[in-house]
Amino acid sequence: MRFDVITLFPELFAPFQSVGVTRRAFENKSVDVRLWPLRDFAEDTYRRVDDRAYGGGPGMVMLVEPLGKALAAIQADQAAQGLSPLPVVLFSPAGKPLTQARVQSLAQSAGAVLLCGRYEGIDQRFIDAHVDEEVSLGDYVLSGGELPALTLIDAVARLQPGVLNDAASHQQDSFSDGLLDCPHYSRPEVLAINGVDRPVPEVLMSGHHAHIAKWRREQQLAITARRRPELIEIARQSGALSKEDERFLKTFLL
Ligand code: SAM
Repeated sequence: MRFDVITLFPELFAPFQSVGVTRRAFENKSVDVRLWPLRDFAEDTYRRVDDRAYGGGPGMVMLVEPLGKALAAIQADQAAQGLSPLPVVLFSPAGKPLTQARVQSLAQSAGAVLLCGRYEGIDQRFIDAHVDEEVSLGDYVLSGGELPALTLIDAVARLQPGVLNDAASHQQDSFSDGLLDCPHYSRPEVLAINGVDRPVPEVLMSGHHAHIAKWRREQQLAITARRRPELIEIARQSGALSKEDERFLKTFLL
């Protein structure tokens, strides 16, 4: 799959691609990230990509022309690779919040064009004409779309086959089955913090796989019900909760 990133700050992407488990996905090109520096498509000698907003106000607006040229160059490059034009995703606080379900569907797709906004944002006419989907990281405002783009690329890259050391590990992550993850423990067996002994839950030391799986599932259900009760309802409606899950939730919520 490929991501074509339109950005004013391509230099932010290189360090990220050379570290951690996801590095494998970038090196073997299972996730091919192509950077398209927006200033390369600017019309004038000042390489200007923004201008004042009609109607006044303090911020600058990203111009349609350089964005249009960048997108045309990307689509020509995609066509040369035998690809139909990939969907254009704009990062915006007004977009739909990014979810693991969307990440999973993108991970199985041919990729997307990722458009990183800056300043006040992008001229609405470009959005109306070319953007297929607007994605938000959350209800706060960042200075640009680069961190959201890196977030999305990371979340998709770790789902590619061969990226995580244990292929099953992402299936146990939060949201994979609609619930939050259970707690994890490692050595030592007992840890003294501020004079209080904190042992690892006994069941995890038992070697009894069925009991461990049951404990982990109940922890997931309990943590999700306590912290994000709306996720329990979504999981229930999508059929992800078993009868045993429902039984546990009933006793837990009493
Ligand atoms: N004027 C915009 C507003 O109030 O919604 C904020 C623009 S912000 C300073 C510049 C760019 O950062 C946006 O165009 C968008 O690409 C990106 N951005 C900021 N916050 C974001 C968020 N929560 N999710 C996704 N992208 C965001």
